[in-house]
Amino acid sequence: MTTKTTNTLLLSIMAVVTISLTTSVAYADHDTSHYWIDEDVEYKCLSGINSISKTSNVSPCSDFSTATNFWDDVSSQTWDLDPSSHGSRVNITGASLADDDWAAVAYTEKNGDDTIESGYIQFNTTFSETFGDVTAGDTTEVDFEYVAVHEAGHLLRFTHSTTSGSVMEETVSVGDDFTGLHSHDISELQGKYPS
Ligand SMILES: [Zn+2]
Repeated sequence: MTTKTTNTLLLSIMAVVTISLTTSVAYADHDTSHYWIDEDVEYKCLSGINSISKTSNVSPCSDFSTATNFWDDVSSQTWDLDPSSHGSRVNITGASLADDDWAAVAYTEKNGDDTIESGYIQFNTTFSETFGDVTAGDTTEVDFEYVAVHEAGHLLRFTHSTTSGSVMEETVSVGDDFTGLHSHDISELQGKYPS
């Protein structure tokens, strides 16, 4: 266990990209040079998440849990829903973000030795689009699960990818369905967290 000596907020740098015919929304960049203290990322879903605009097919807390399973299944890193005993190190919530084209942001606070102390994922409560479940037929919405997998990826130290089909591409379009990690995402993850 390390001693926390500093608590630097690593703000996301965001960019908005618009693709004709579809509305694309940016996620967030964040610093990826820091490491979790151990391989269990404990997270908590705060009530603020319920303030996002969403269809009835979206259950944010359980859908986020489903999203983290995609990463858990292919590496030694695990995400555990742990709302009490350890004090959660990742808070999942909603917030009014600076730009209504942003779906969500992810950022971390680090210790003096560059290990990660805690992380935050904020879904935009003033998002210009509605979060939905594209698999369930919400084709005019932004897939909540897609965004959740992407933001969890940032907290696993992923930057944006230029690989087509990667969940870490900078933008997601309305109606894009998340159907699983790209082989590129899996190999990148396993490089970061060897089993
Ligand atoms: Zn991103």
